Amino acid sequence: MHELSIMASLLDTVEDHARRAGAHRVRAINLVIGERASFVDDSLLFYFDMLTPGRLCDGAALHIRRTPMSFYCAACQQCYAPSGESFRCPICATVGQITSDGRELLIESMEVEV
Ligand SMILES: [Zn+2]
Repeated sequence: MHELSIMASLLDTVEDHARRAGAHRVRAINLVIGERASFVDDSLLFYFDMLTPGRLCDGAALHIRRTPMSFYCAACQQCYAPSGESFRCPICATVGQITSDGRELLIESMEVEV
């Protein structure tokens, strides 16, 4: 039921923003979810369909984009996504500093009708 509470609070946030923008309908919601986050896309979509009827988000499209973990290598001054089990920089093999642990869930953007 993890995804149910996440989706419920996410919809509240989205509709809160939509109302403040004077929207009467939310057309699309674009989410960014870390690839290591414990959310299952199918469950999120399932609860989205269950929770949205009769609300501002009714009929909106839910887009989910998965983002990898990311690290920053100070030596090479660039970000990289670690591959496999290695967290080392692909160029110099230094272990960089983690900038995203791949567990985030963000509302990247949304489209509304006003
Ligand atoms: Zn490097």
